[in-house]
Amino acid sequence: MAYNITVIPGDGVGPEVAEAAKRVLEATGVAFHWDLAYMGDSAQDMFGTPLPDYVLEAIKRNGVAFKGPVTTPVGTGFRSVNVALRKKLDLYAGLRPCKTYPGVPSLYPALDIIIVRENTEDLYSGIEFEKDTEEAYRLIELLTNKTHKNERIRRDSGFSIKMISEEGTRRIAKFAFDYARANGRKKVSAGHKANILKFSDGLFLEVTRDVARGYHDIEFEDVIVDTLCMRLVLNPGQFDVLVLPNLYGDFISELCAGLIGGLGVAPGANIGDNIAVFEATHGSAPKYAGKNKVNPMALMLSGVMMLRHLGEREAAERMEKAIAQVVAEGKNVTYDLKPSHNPPVGTSQVADAVIQKLREGDFA
Ligand code: NAD
Repeated sequence: MAYNITVIPGDGVGPEVAEAAKRVLEATGVAFHWDLAYMGDSAQDMFGTPLPDYVLEAIKRNGVAFKGPVTTPVGTGFRSVNVALRKKLDLYAGLRPCKTYPGVPSLYPALDIIIVRENTEDLYSGIEFEKDTEEAYRLIELLTNKTHKNERIRRDSGFSIKMISEEGTRRIAKFAFDYARANGRKKVSAGHKANILKFSDGLFLEVTRDVARGYHDIEFEDVIVDTLCMRLVLNPGQFDVLVLPNLYGDFISELCAGLIGGLGVAPGANIGDNIAVFEATHGSAPKYAGKNKVNPMALMLSGVMMLRHLGEREAAERMEKAIAQVVAEGKNVTYDLKPSHNPPVGTSQVADAVIQKLREGDFA
């Protein structure tokens, strides 16, 4: 049986890393039927929109997508085509494992943190009021009348609304605890700024605490997000699973990608109730497009996550070990892992090396 997977090559370096990762996935022996779809810049040229309906339909039909990074074209009405995809498919959980592989130059040699980011709410709700518009003036009037404390609201203000719901928080908190339980994790830490943002982050904290009460086997702690940043840099090994509202999740996942050696080795997935989209944390790195230069391992490791999601655990283990061996040997790795290589090793050579390891099958 072949798995039907929607594959989105993406823009910039996307097609190169997607091709490299697909070749490795096929070399595991698992059979795929790749259902090709385009979004981002490439779809804008072909269909006049960066997010054609057929892409959403294809992902819903197949239930699983494997996606390269995409560029949001300017002037199309989309702030971010990625944020739009997550919202339209209600992919509410951003899952970002941050694990150090031996051989990757990094600050911390043995990290293994899971970040669970709420993907649909918070300051990414897209509800904004532009300065000097009728809407902004009406909002200022409303806020000024509401309580005298707001008299100092300046008329030349713009607004972005931070919106956090009980239901949105409950499902992401449950996702984090269920993930922890299913994957032998011991602790969930919730990041927030509830001391200042009482009705948004305060609600996030209250609901997450309530969910935690149903998981006696998993330790729970809450951490104010600025303290979380400091503790992550000083001693990240104290964390296991982190659950975060959207904005902090965005920042902290990039911070943790830095702790494990950079975007070249940071995989990810966006997961909803019946749909999952696997993609690296990094973007389309346009300056390197077509240069056979960037590291495909972040998307390959997203492929490992996809195999696990499909229930192909054994193939996932082999693929992860093959990637880890290539990293550990340090011969066939890209510039971000070994800047001294001359001539540099390219994206496609990394795929060849991982495929060779899979063929040798020596994973002692
Ligand atoms: P980026 O992640 O594309 O690149 C930043 C830098 O990180 C690159 O210049 C490169 O030096 C390094 N880098 C990124 N990926 C790498 C890899 N695989 N191997 C080695 N080095 C790598 O971030 P950006 O420049 O801020 O964004 C470029 C475009 O990507 C923007 O249009 C942005 O909107 C888009 N983007 C898309 C996604 C997505 O599709 N999920 C995510 C983030 C950004």
